[in-house]
Amino acid sequence: MKIDLIKSKINSICKFITYKENKELIKIYSADWRKRFSNICLGVAFPKSTSEVSKIVKFASKNDLKLIPQGGNTGLVGGTSPTKNKSEIIINLEKMDKLINIDENNKSIELQSGVIVEKAVLELEKKNFTFPLNMSSIGSSQVGGTIATNAGGMNVIKYGSIRNNILSLEVVLANGEVLNLGSNLIKDNTGYNLKDLFCGSEGTLGIITKARIKIYPKPIDHSSIFISMNSIKSLLIVFRYLNQNFLDKIERIEFISDLSFELCLKHNLLDKRFFEKKSNYYLLVKFIYFENSEINFEKIYTNLKGNFEEFLISQNEQQSIDFWKFRESLTEAQKIDGKLIGFDLSIPINQLENFLLQSQYKINELLPQIKFHIFGHLGDSNIHFNLIEPENIKKDFYSYEKKIKHIINNLIIKFEGSVSAEHGIGILKKDDFKKTKSLKEIKLMKNIKKLFDPKNILNPNKIF
Ligand SMILES: Cc1cc2nc3c(=O)[nH]c(=O)nc-3n(C[C@H](O)[C@H](O)[C@H](O)COP(=O)(O)OP(=O)(O)OC[C@H]3O[C@@H](n4cnc5c(N)ncnc54)[C@H](O)[C@@H]3O)c2cc1C
Repeated sequence: MKIDLIKSKINSICKFITYKENKELIKIYSADWRKRFSNICLGVAFPKSTSEVSKIVKFASKNDLKLIPQGGNTGLVGGTSPTKNKSEIIINLEKMDKLINIDENNKSIELQSGVIVEKAVLELEKKNFTFPLNMSSIGSSQVGGTIATNAGGMNVIKYGSIRNNILSLEVVLANGEVLNLGSNLIKDNTGYNLKDLFCGSEGTLGIITKARIKIYPKPIDHSSIFISMNSIKSLLIVFRYLNQNFLDKIERIEFISDLSFELCLKHNLLDKRFFEKKSNYYLLVKFIYFENSEINFEKIYTNLKGNFEEFLISQNEQQSIDFWKFRESLTEAQKIDGKLIGFDLSIPINQLENFLLQSQYKINELLPQIKFHIFGHLGDSNIHFNLIEPENIKKDFYSYEKKIKHIINNLIIKFEGSVSAEHGIGILKKDDFKKTKSLKEIKLMKNIKKLFDPKNILNPNKIF
């Protein structure tokens, strides 16, 4: 179908810009966050309502046009990247940004899928509630995007991932029909849980247009501790102790390695190290309070003595905020630093030490000067294992990617982990997905895709 005809039809539904009109803008919407993919899309549509989304999908379905749903475009696996040049149409949900209702009795929030997560967080704070999801990208990522990727983030140990918090969804199917799933009820055991299928489906089964999400009471206060140590053994002792004794008060437990400080200092994202001296590993823990019952940090200090190098307690709210600002800048710091081969993996906590030792040893054999930037959500065993390009490397860094993936995937299989803890599959993890899932599972998933989208118009060439 001719581009001018597509343009006039979609423009009669909503704002639609093609590459012919504004190539620079189209390049921006087509580029993934880490700029790993270079195709551009045919055009970007900006629907304002579910009915406009439905009309575009009906038109696409009739004319065999391919659609890529797009939220804040902060995904890290190329889920919104076009897979053919100047062919697919991006449906960007940013104009669908209405916060519909906060139900204080049922503790839920209803929103259009294009609402930026941070907007929901701030609106809820005004009413003394908290949104379950929190991660460094909430200033840009949209509610629909977080559902489509089943985002996790830092607060999973307290509230679960977004999947655990969805009460209902409105979805536009591949034939343009609108489907309502779930309700405003905590308990609803009526048949298959179809809304869960859309969560984590990465735009391949339907376009999420509305959601109702659980909300929680806002803590009245918080404080943080930042602990440094030199061995994984000590780190696990500290982790176990905190988990056993304070789980109801802990919102997050994050793992940080020393390179994080160096990167943030180098790129002016941090003024000074919080610690006197360097150590190998760090744990940053946030405690939240719902009543006036402060934690006895002196006691924790005494009980853990011998297992840490330095033990910092936030002296006031600002210092706690500063600790977390540093943590939240780590993904940005490594992006500024240059080329990166990243893994978002889960490893059973008991195997963490074996995994870290064996992976670093094997990768060092391949590329001795490589820099390991390891951090992540230790509370749920999710490690962001990132390899940063060494200086003075002779070949293109990405030419090592296949071999590095081979090493890491074999270790993930050996230790019964996951190749994608929270970012999804998109384009980037397709091979890893194939290697680590059973053929039976993949076949069943492909059949589900065919059932929902027989013409393969929604986000083609992603996941499989
Ligand atoms: C600095 C930084 C930190 C991050 N930290 C975390 C973290 O801690 N935890 C975590 O889980 N992720 C994290 N991410 C990854 C990313 O933010 C999440 O995957 C987020 O959920 C993506 O939301 P988005 O709106 O940007 O979606 P996009 O990137 O726009 O899209 C992601 C996928 O969802 C699909 N999609 C988007 N909107 C819809 C819709 N309305 N209907 C159907 N499909 C849709 C797209 O087609 C694509 O496949 C981080 C990213 C960055 C850049």
